[in-house]
Amino acid sequence: MPNKFYITTAIDYVNSKPHIGHALEKLQADVLARYHRLIGDEVFFLTGTDEHGAKIVKAADKAGKTPREFTDEISASFVELTKKLNISNDDFIRTTDQEKHWPGVYKIWNAIKENEDLYKDTYEGLYCVGHEAFMKKSDLKDGECPDHKTKPEKIKEENYFFKLSKYKKDLEKAYRDGVVKIFPETRKNEVLSMLKDSEDISFSRPSKDLKWGIPVPNDKDHTIYVWSDALTNYLSAIGYGRNDDWLKWWPANTHVIGKDILRFHAIIWPAMLMSAGIDLPKSIAVHGFITVEGEKMSKTIGNVISPIDLIGKHGVDPIRYFLLREIPSTQDGDFSQSKLEERYNGDLANNLGNLVSRTAKLIETRLSGELDFKDHFVDIDAHKKVQETSQKYAVALNDFRLHDALSAVWELLSYANSYIDTRKPWDKDADAQNIMTTLTTVLGIILNSAWFLKPFIPDTADKIFKMFGTTEDHTKWVGNKFEINKLEPLFPRIKS
Ligand SMILES: [Zn+2]
Repeated sequence: MPNKFYITTAIDYVNSKPHIGHALEKLQADVLARYHRLIGDEVFFLTGTDEHGAKIVKAADKAGKTPREFTDEISASFVELTKKLNISNDDFIRTTDQEKHWPGVYKIWNAIKENEDLYKDTYEGLYCVGHEAFMKKSDLKDGECPDHKTKPEKIKEENYFFKLSKYKKDLEKAYRDGVVKIFPETRKNEVLSMLKDSEDISFSRPSKDLKWGIPVPNDKDHTIYVWSDALTNYLSAIGYGRNDDWLKWWPANTHVIGKDILRFHAIIWPAMLMSAGIDLPKSIAVHGFITVEGEKMSKTIGNVISPIDLIGKHGVDPIRYFLLREIPSTQDGDFSQSKLEERYNGDLANNLGNLVSRTAKLIETRLSGELDFKDHFVDIDAHKKVQETSQKYAVALNDFRLHDALSAVWELLSYANSYIDTRKPWDKDADAQNIMTTLTTVLGIILNSAWFLKPFIPDTADKIFKMFGTTEDHTKWVGNKFEINKLEPLFPRIKS
């Protein structure tokens, strides 16, 4: 039986179109999904859009559209992004999907209610419409929301509350015992300290104030608030509330999220699951934010970068490579045009592209276009180097250090480049033994590298396999007679 691997991204809020931060998260999850498929696991990879809330109604109104028209349009732009980025998601969930999503939301609400973890109480607070959330007094600056520069409204209303505080001890234990792993490990302390300050939370809003949402079962005066509406997508998409398929996939192996929503995923969501008697996810992988040319992305500055424009200009694999290599997986990173060109010309065109094209050319000129791959021609040190890379690569992927997995592959590629430079198989005086050893060894490194790169830059990996007339099935490499298929250069150089 193959292992199962269930991975999710956060669902994106559809109040504006996708930027490169959205692209990064989908790419990170895509790499892990593709990697697990490559090693033979059975994978389910979910992404989607979060479409309810007062903010959406406002944004739709501003655009002169109904919330339905507005969310359809923005959600479609996120679907387009997954296609353009070559994301291999198995499903795309929308929280406005009444058939697929809502039954799961009702089911978890009812389970939490049956466990006596919901109660009605009066909520008094300062509500920021921009945040679509209540603010603490200590968050305000001169009585205003520091982000939205508006005075929050004083609101007194009846809400359903969720007894989050009841689960604090059990959650703390789950993190201390490593039941739920957090990547990077350093974020675990952050979770433990947030947990100390956690109180019961509002779980509904009056339906007169929140019409665009899912109604509370059997209580038309209340609308379900974002927690059980949005977070439950991870269960509803795989069948929870509709059928038993979810039992096959749950618990999720990894939720990939941004650092801004750690509390929702590391505290509120697991507490909801505990209350509903459902197992906790196995890990939460937390990425940072992307700045552009050193500055925070903002509509006011006008430096928001559309990943779709970037792909149109540079192609999908260079953008995939850049974001996954340049932005450390769990930290903040920067996008800049000059760094993109540097990575493209240096890493992709030079190190990888050149190695592949000159090896193919040498096989053509020195071996009449055919290489009979025999194990005993593989250099022993090079073979060790490949094995070391393979280990580093797997450990890095399991620790959610995708950039480190890539840097291990590029070390191997540099090794192959200097190996071929030292042995000069193009020399008139090179003997047959040298030529066979060098080209077999380097071809082996190229094929292994393409295998390592398949989850990251799948089209490029496939082009490499095709160039040598093979596939990613590494069991067929030794003993194979490789024939060169002529193809264009993988990465034509960018001239700046
Ligand atoms: Zn605000």
